[in-house]
Amino acid sequence: MALSSYFVAFISLIALAASEGATWSYTGDHDTKAPADWPSVAPLCGGNSQSPINIIPSEADYDDDLTAFTFTNYDKENPATFYASNAHALKVTFNTSQEMPSISGGGLVGTYRFMQLHIHHGKSSAKGSEHTINAMHYAAELHLVHLNNKYATFEDSLGNSDALAVLGIMIEVGEEDNANFSSLIAAIPEVTEDGSMAEMTGKFPLRACLPEDDLDVYYRYPGSLTTPDCNEIVQWTVLKEPIYWSEAQLQALRTKLLVGGADSDPLLLNFRPVQPLKSRKVKTSMKPVDDGASGVAFSFITMATMLLSALFLM
Ligand SMILES: [Zn+2]
Repeated sequence: MALSSYFVAFISLIALAASEGATWSYTGDHDTKAPADWPSVAPLCGGNSQSPINIIPSEADYDDDLTAFTFTNYDKENPATFYASNAHALKVTFNTSQEMPSISGGGLVGTYRFMQLHIHHGKSSAKGSEHTINAMHYAAELHLVHLNNKYATFEDSLGNSDALAVLGIMIEVGEEDNANFSSLIAAIPEVTEDGSMAEMTGKFPLRACLPEDDLDVYYRYPGSLTTPDCNEIVQWTVLKEPIYWSEAQLQALRTKLLVGGADSDPLLLNFRPVQPLKSRKVKTSMKPVDDGASGVAFSFITMATMLLSALFLM
């Protein structure tokens, strides 16, 4: 009797270990966990400061600490650029022997050095970004991930809310190919395994990932990694101004990124649904427009509406 109890306990332990080791995905296919079930794989995904979120510009608080960023080495033409797939996104990293590009200012304390960039996309250009603005998706969203210089490694930074500064840049459909990304997109078919890497031909200055203007116009909030383990260690910056890719370039992300081997399905989509804001506030660098005149007009209309309603009620 006692022996069989041990046997049952042993089997249960194996089952538990197997479920804990379950991998995650965006679709829940092949026994993986879909986003709603990520907390069962990584408990932090059920936390109170998760990303992405829906940004409502009219509810964002202006903060004059949110000054312009200083971009260092962003114009440098990183010659030894590598890109890699991590099975969940197209990811670009640089040869570590180089001096990394970095950012400071922008309301951040200290300097953050570039770690990697990756892109989130969807099945179609109607829906692919992770963050939404007034509940509207962009076609895709590029994330520039930076690590706080006060931490030697990413592992050292874990558990600290100031660990990462991620810039989120919306990608909208444009008429023409975005030449800045041609070499990256051309190299996609070379990477078909999780963790495999390829060298891109041509230069890839990070400046090419940013919109040309209005780099000082953005939203800021404290949040998390948008993939398991969902650590709440990110100072998020979402730029208001998008960049543009052609439909053909976006289509290449959906059809050519084979992340599970040469015969695997392409990565059709990789955006996490928006998470509740809870007690957080979104801040903005955008000064509220002086709407003194329209404020008066608004109160007049409000007053008139109230009077009319009162008349109808009588
Ligand atoms: Zn991301």
